[in-house]
Amino acid sequence: MSESGSLQIVHGVCSHDCPDTCSWKAEVEDGRAVRLYGDRSHPFTRGVLCAKVNHYLERVYHPDRLLYPLRRCGKKGSGSFERISWEAALQEIAQRWASLIEEEGGESILPYSSAGNQGLIQHSSLDMRLFGLLGFSRLDRNICGNVAHEGLCATQGCGTGINPEDIEHSRLIVLWGTNTRVTNLHLWPVIEQARKRGGKVIVIDPIRTRTAAAADRHLAVNPGTDTVLMLAMMHVIIQEGLHDPEYIRDYSEGFEELAAHVLQFTPEYAASITGLTAQEIVEFAREYATTTPSLLRPLIGLEHHPNGAMMFRTIACLPVLTGAWRHRGGGLSRSTGAFQFSALNIDALLMPDTWQKDCRSLNMRDLGRILSGTEDIKPVRSLLVYNSNPAVTMPNQRLVRYGLERTDLFTVVHDLFLTDTARYADIVLPATSQLEHLDIVPSWGHHYISLNQPAIAPRGECVSNTELFRRLASVLRRAESWLFDSDEQLLRAALSGDHPMLKGITLESLREHGSQHLHHEAEWLPFAAGGFSTPSGRARLSSPALAESGLPALPVPGCIPARPAGQLQLITGKTLHFLNSSYSHHERHQNREGTLWIEIHASDAANRGLADGEVVVVSNEQGEICALCQVSDRVRPGVVWMPFGGLRDALGAPAHVNLLTPEAPTDWGGGSGFYGCFVDVFQGKMREG
Ligand code: SF4
Repeated sequence: MSESGSLQIVHGVCSHDCPDTCSWKAEVEDGRAVRLYGDRSHPFTRGVLCAKVNHYLERVYHPDRLLYPLRRCGKKGSGSFERISWEAALQEIAQRWASLIEEEGGESILPYSSAGNQGLIQHSSLDMRLFGLLGFSRLDRNICGNVAHEGLCATQGCGTGINPEDIEHSRLIVLWGTNTRVTNLHLWPVIEQARKRGGKVIVIDPIRTRTAAAADRHLAVNPGTDTVLMLAMMHVIIQEGLHDPEYIRDYSEGFEELAAHVLQFTPEYAASITGLTAQEIVEFAREYATTTPSLLRPLIGLEHHPNGAMMFRTIACLPVLTGAWRHRGGGLSRSTGAFQFSALNIDALLMPDTWQKDCRSLNMRDLGRILSGTEDIKPVRSLLVYNSNPAVTMPNQRLVRYGLERTDLFTVVHDLFLTDTARYADIVLPATSQLEHLDIVPSWGHHYISLNQPAIAPRGECVSNTELFRRLASVLRRAESWLFDSDEQLLRAALSGDHPMLKGITLESLREHGSQHLHHEAEWLPFAAGGFSTPSGRARLSSPALAESGLPALPVPGCIPARPAGQLQLITGKTLHFLNSSYSHHERHQNREGTLWIEIHASDAANRGLADGEVVVVSNEQGEICALCQVSDRVRPGVVWMPFGGLRDALGAPAHVNLLTPEAPTDWGGGSGFYGCFVDVFQGKMREG
């Protein structure tokens, strides 16, 4: 924090679910934040905030901010609430929970949270200690990243990739299932730097995204067929002798089995599945294998397919075959989250030794089934939602909302706004914004760890997550001192443990610098000389461990759902101005995004008699939405694209595409195959009226 006259400048960092983790500075005058801008001194985010966040103060001071606790006084979902005191709110929660614990056990209560706040302690800390101690149901928070992580682990033993800053040394950058210019925008200048040095960019994506449009080449694969393309690349690489025999010999296992296995995945076969030509596949494989350094950057797009984990398991074999890991800027780069967390003392933060053993764990993906009684389990009687808006973000939204309407479900929501989920709550509690609490934010897109200092006092009666859990522990009459640790104590616990990557990083040094780079060699090449995190230290091209768990030992195409006749495959993606449903209360963001739309190829539109600009119905067995038809060459025939998040339909009503997506599990990793979704698109009235 620095001061000039009455003006204070406070360092902070964005906590949204985004790999960039931008540092910012807030100017505060007389206790009010008057300006907020990107911190130009941050080496990776360089003073640029995205279109979502560069008016963050409007969010902080928005007239719709929740400032006081509320109790529902109308029907669930109606949005009718009355103001109550914190004492009354906490007493009601304590009474309801005490009887539930006594009558039905702690597992009848489900704390439900996600990555709505990625700050270290506001995401997970005292909540895990308190709810673990009380034996509440646990939540598998693995709808996205875990799928990728588990897939990479199957080959590498861990999810580690190269330092994203090293991508500037790459000569071929393959952006696979990631719209970098929209969802990871601070990486794009690094990529442009590589291009200035002669590097090329190839994008693999069924949609011609902004990133694909800016690339040197775009390969528009059929959705979900990426594994077949990867296997055909291996076929070409091995058949043409473009692999690195020494690297394979010294640092991998199972090459012979893999080489025999991929013989069947000829470019011609792959062409019939992926929608690319055999020539495109051969050229891509050759270019990938013969360019040094070559870098694969697979990200979120792949995680949302039913065969998501297999996609990551398979793609991780490629840099092993080519030995790309040997070179700076070569190999693979995905999330840096697990890498950052490996340096932090997470056990000291969460204290898992104090948790009740053998409590059930429920997958967040299944919330609709859990709440609606479709799952054959002991019922959940109370839900505490924070850092999350599952009525929008979870698949099979109708079932989620049906469950939230249950009159016997006692729901508490802690949030900044009256979210779609909060409208179904019995008690709503006001949460602080990132300007109003202390935290550290580890990044999943770079190697900097950053301190967020509170710039202003909490607005109204808002409290941070950590303060909420201290208050809950108190009203539940817990005496354990570690349930009342201050935010500073929690951060010090996480930074304790002497991990070499935290050398020189303390709370004090973060207060001085704002952000610091994890400590490792400047030329850090994770697998240049093997050292994979498998029991043998070798990458597993064939994996007995997978076979033991009932999965294929070798990479395979996995589940690629066939498109039902007459239907179109729905792929969803992020917009520029919303982050899931965040910012949906902001008029500025609503105006920029306009009315919910669907992009459809001209041939599919013509077959259905649809015209550009008309209102159409998008429908499947799970639900219906109306949207503006946008005839577009961004999508392939057979594929439609819709944005998810806080948009409104042509009638001005909130309309969320997860009304259409299924909660079908991914192959492994516990995720949701959102993209295994097929819809009808037609003119006329909604079938439901
Ligand atoms: S959402 Fe991402 S890009 Fe935008 S300010 Fe936050 S970290 Fe930066």
